[in-house]
Amino acid sequence: MSPPKARPAVPIAEATRAHRTLSLGRLRRCLQNGVPLPKELFADTDLAGLQKNAYRYRDRKYERAALRALTCVKATAEEHELALRVCNCESGNRCGRLVCFICNQKYWRRRRSLLKRFEEVDPSTLSWCTVVIGVSQIGYPILEGMIGRFKAEFSKTISRYPEAQWSGRIEIDYVDGTIEHVKPEKATTLAALGQIPCEIASLVPHVHLVVHHPGVRRETIAFHLKRAFVAVRQVQVRAFRTTRARLASLDALARYPLKPPLLLPAVPKDVRKCTAMHLAALRYVVRMREAFDHPTSRGLLEFDCIRDR
Ligand SMILES: [Zn+2]
Repeated sequence: MSPPKARPAVPIAEATRAHRTLSLGRLRRCLQNGVPLPKELFADTDLAGLQKNAYRYRDRKYERAALRALTCVKATAEEHELALRVCNCESGNRCGRLVCFICNQKYWRRRRSLLKRFEEVDPSTLSWCTVVIGVSQIGYPILEGMIGRFKAEFSKTISRYPEAQWSGRIEIDYVDGTIEHVKPEKATTLAALGQIPCEIASLVPHVHLVVHHPGVRRETIAFHLKRAFVAVRQVQVRAFRTTRARLASLDALARYPLKPPLLLPAVPKDVRKCTAMHLAALRYVVRMREAFDHPTSRGLLEFDCIRDR
């Protein structure tokens, strides 16, 4: 018999009753006064399994910081509209944005369902693979082309093993040396990929994939990928951690590319203390996600080769 489900801290019905649609003025006042937004109560419910998501408060904090940026005086009318869409996201009228901690959770559940097929396979045939795709500064090179070329090259490299499958997602980091410290190893990789050392922020697309490679050793997969993507530390191929259950590992791997952008640790916990620099960086990241990670254009960032038998 399965153990009884833990009762959620807040029943969904209660959070739904407390939910209010906010106007721009009201949203700004909540953020300025440090008052929780009505939707924040859902983080303590079991809506879409949120209560079991150990990262829900981190994601909620990112949403709050992004809303603060989207409603600041410099933000445009489109940004205000997006802020309202995200803060008023509700059942039947979901915003679909990954900045929204509820829609992020729902999207993660769809992505993880793809990985469930790898739950029972031999662990020696399953690898976690990260490839840094490239660096783009002030719009060059253009990301769509860079990502398309990467996908073609990766698929060609792995196609020598027709049984191999993979599933993952491209994440675009915003790297800004003026608001966060870049680790030396990372700086070396970015330099090898052509980053011009200057104060201009970089966009760094990279992919996280679960690769299933029956009949082929992990080292062989790594060898071919490292020959295709040659910059220093551009490719990492690793075994799964054996210290936790397989499904828990797959869940974590499906969630990893959906985490908030790297600059989050630099953003103050209390969003009222965000500087103009934080707000500008956050607005940039949200605009970038609107361009590349909008619910209707997500196909560019998803990268799956799943064979149904
Ligand atoms: Zn939403």
